[in-house]
Amino acid sequence: LLHIGVLALQGSVIEHARVLSELGAKPVEVKVSAHLQGLDGLIIPGGESTTMNKLAHAFDLFDDLKAFVHSGRAIYGSCAGMIMLADRIVDGIADQETLGGLDVTVRRNAFGRQVDSAQSFVDAGAFGGDTPLPAVFIRAPWVESVGSGVEVLSTWQQTPESEPAVVAVRQGPLLATSFHPEVTGDRRVHEYFLRMVAESNRG
Ligand code: GLN
Repeated sequence: LLHIGVLALQGSVIEHARVLSELGAKPVEVKVSAHLQGLDGLIIPGGESTTMNKLAHAFDLFDDLKAFVHSGRAIYGSCAGMIMLADRIVDGIADQETLGGLDVTVRRNAFGRQVDSAQSFVDAGAFGGDTPLPAVFIRAPWVESVGSGVEVLSTWQQTPESEPAVVAVRQGPLLATSFHPEVTGDRRVHEYFLRMVAESNRG
């Protein structure tokens, strides 16, 4: 049984936990450092990255969380979680701190006003299957540039005229998506992540 932490400071915690249970993993809410003990992997949910930072410091969790993210275990960041995993942010608040680890530059709130929130379909790419992946974007970031070790897993072309935006990336044990897959009923992203966790456990 895989024990998967869900950072539970703020954001879509319950939704991720529900999907994990559905897929046969054990979700563990992480609010303080002790909750990181014995986890096989961790999800950093969507919400608000600056608020999550503040709360992680207030709960004295930030440093241990950062160490966990850099420990080689599988980590999945969705939306605000993607921002938390990024080495660099554009349009963050001044000196916005991240946990880092993913060699990418992420632009906060990148998709502009008309898609502050949108349900769409993105290219399923590495997540597999024959159909596009339903994806919910809520004031979502996109990945503006990637370092050489980063694999682009999925892109989204908002309109036929727009450049496809990078909306899912992976670097070793770190996975990040711009969108929220936990509210769509499509389980491909979580299934992919649980395969990553199993792989990282085998070492
Ligand atoms: N815009 C939010 C942030 O900067 C992310 C939104 C989300 O997670 N749905 O953290």
